[in-house]
Amino acid sequence: QCFCELIPKIELHAHLNGCIRSSTFRQLLSSPTDQTRLDTLDKEFSVGDTHARMANVFEKFSLLRSCVTNLDDIRRIARETLEDFISDNVIYAELRTRPRSFHNGKIPSSSYIEAILDIMKKYEEKICSRLILSIDRTQTLEQAMETLKLAENYRTHIVGLDFSGDPNIKSFERFRPVFDLAKQINLSTTIHIGELPDKECINENNLIIDYKPTRLGHFNFRTNDQEQRVLKEQIPLELCPTSNLLTMNLLDLTEHHFDLFYKNKHPLAICTDDSGLMNCNLSSELFQVVQTFHLTKKELYEFIFQTSNLIFDKNMIEFCQKKLNIFSQQSNL
Ligand code: 5GP
Repeated sequence: QCFCELIPKIELHAHLNGCIRSSTFRQLLSSPTDQTRLDTLDKEFSVGDTHARMANVFEKFSLLRSCVTNLDDIRRIARETLEDFISDNVIYAELRTRPRSFHNGKIPSSSYIEAILDIMKKYEEKICSRLILSIDRTQTLEQAMETLKLAENYRTHIVGLDFSGDPNIKSFERFRPVFDLAKQINLSTTIHIGELPDKECINENNLIIDYKPTRLGHFNFRTNDQEQRVLKEQIPLELCPTSNLLTMNLLDLTEHHFDLFYKNKHPLAICTDDSGLMNCNLSSELFQVVQTFHLTKKELYEFIFQTSNLIFDKNMIEFCQKKLNIFSQQSNL
């Protein structure tokens, strides 16, 4: 695992609140009922089929959402997340989060964003990080438009728009106008796709591919035709091994779609998704890939190098590639 730990890494798919340390999560949960509920959810984490596992994860998200109640909480989560990435030798991270207000709107979502950006700036010497704003599948179109406006207002550090949230709600079509506007203003987009094996979800994949986002997340369940379209159109994929295994109900990566896309030299990023809730880090995610598919050190290096081309903040590509070059020379790759 050592080489995976040492190599400079790039994180492109991490939900900020999902990165919360489990110790912090437990501290923020004040009521004993919530603590007990979290224990039960932890115990049942990997039981059942894809739908049951997703339901478990999303119940945890709602518990998490209820216990993050002020700016100090989100500052702490941002700080600890960046510290964890730094100790894992992550040199560049795009963190995504759904903007939120606190105290019935007295603290607006712009303050939530500024609190996170302040922490990011404080850590800039040790890790370069940028923010992606998430639109949640359950939101209204009006809320999504607000999110787009926020992204426009903080353009230097907000580098894209994400579409995520409970995949049981098929709402991409409803939000398409917001994503069209994002394209018009040259804001990069990343869309969660194919997270459930049901027909409606797989049908929705077509709408998402038609839109042609800058990157796609997961793509666990898909048709052959959809697979071929994504390959042909070279839409980069963000793959998250631990999270994907959990939701796809697989024991290991042997049957994971990494292999297919990697063999086709498709643009790919290996990411953590929700490192706190999934109890993983980027080194461990890459290690699983390296072990299962027998990547050499040089192949891993080349893999991370190609991931750097997928960064939304194009100004950061050269920075990452320079760091990787230095590492390669020092390690005699
Ligand atoms: P936040 O946006 O609050 O910083 O991060 C947590 C949120 O990210 C969750 O409430 C959920 O909406 C979204 N999220 C995290 N992981 C996943 C995932 O694997 N799939 C989907 N669809 N959404 C996710």
